[in-house]
Amino acid sequence: MKRIAVLTSGGDAPGMNAALRAVVRTSVFYGYECFVVYHGYQGLIDDEIKSANARSVNNIINKGGTILKSARSLEFRTPEGRQKAYANIKKREIDALVVIGGDGSFTGALIFQNEFNFPVIGIPGTIDNDISGTQYTLGYDTALNTVVEVIDKIRDTASSHNRLFFVEVMGRDAGHIALNTGIGAGAEEILIPEEDRGLGKLLESLKHSEKSGKSSSIVVVAEGDKTGKNVFELAAYVEQNLPYYEVRVSVLGHMQRGGSPSCFDRVLASRMGVHAVESLREGKSKAMVGILNDKMELTPLEEAIKGKSKINSNLLRVTDILSI
Ligand code: ATP
Repeated sequence: MKRIAVLTSGGDAPGMNAALRAVVRTSVFYGYECFVVYHGYQGLIDDEIKSANARSVNNIINKGGTILKSARSLEFRTPEGRQKAYANIKKREIDALVVIGGDGSFTGALIFQNEFNFPVIGIPGTIDNDISGTQYTLGYDTALNTVVEVIDKIRDTASSHNRLFFVEVMGRDAGHIALNTGIGAGAEEILIPEEDRGLGKLLESLKHSEKSGKSSSIVVVAEGDKTGKNVFELAAYVEQNLPYYEVRVSVLGHMQRGGSPSCFDRVLASRMGVHAVESLREGKSKAMVGILNDKMELTPLEEAIKGKSKINSNLLRVTDILSI
């Protein structure tokens, strides 16, 4: 192996730049030539590939988003698109590819490796933390910190006016962000996609909060929660049933994706980048780098794609106890 390329794909996440830096510098460290690809898989197809050296990735460890830009490429989903991508890779005599992205990006990576017998290693970058084979994905810790900081601010206004706030956080299919920020910010209730605890329980809990003399209440709701109602419908439902509550809704949206990565994400990204290149160096591929019990591990891409990391349902019990 002489040449390695790296790209970022799918939704951006804080820590992607730190991982890019680690991949480029580890490649240089071991004497490989490194290439960066702009705009994800679409950049492979359009030949947006540039040579990089250790200095190309100066001062990016602290930057959110991805300096390589990300893209969702429809063309890469077609055999013709992937053939173009492969032709550009061969033209530069690139021997291996590191893909920083989510499960969709890994599906593309797996198909690409199978089609052309071309070595690929994945680095999980997504704030949702929903990929199996790693306890933490890049950007998740930063997103948790961002959300907790915002809910703390919402709490200030909620308690000044005796209000109930519904705060919607990201997580269409996974409740990790809602569950952990809910506990971290002292939420009264947490609604997640993995478990339907019923609207009755929500009302009971809010009634109890009011009776026990709380000056404010916060309900953290994941986008894909199981109640079947969106956050505005939930607010209306509670207002109808518990008229003494003055209810407000706050949808946090894309701000959760942005910002400078936390120290945890920078360290994780650095370790993952080093491990990705060292794994390729050992002849390993078709796998995703992950962290399990503080050790860097590889998981076959097939498994990483199929499995979803499970929520820790004990955390729901913790919030039930602590929100009395
Ligand atoms: P996020 O979790 O943030 O959404 P992701 O990596 O899952 O990130 P996707 O948009 O699902 O994001 O996938 C990124 C890109 O991977 C797609 O735009 C496409 O180019 C490629 N890709 C996804 N699925 C396939 C597939 N089945 N075949 C080929 N390429 C694919």
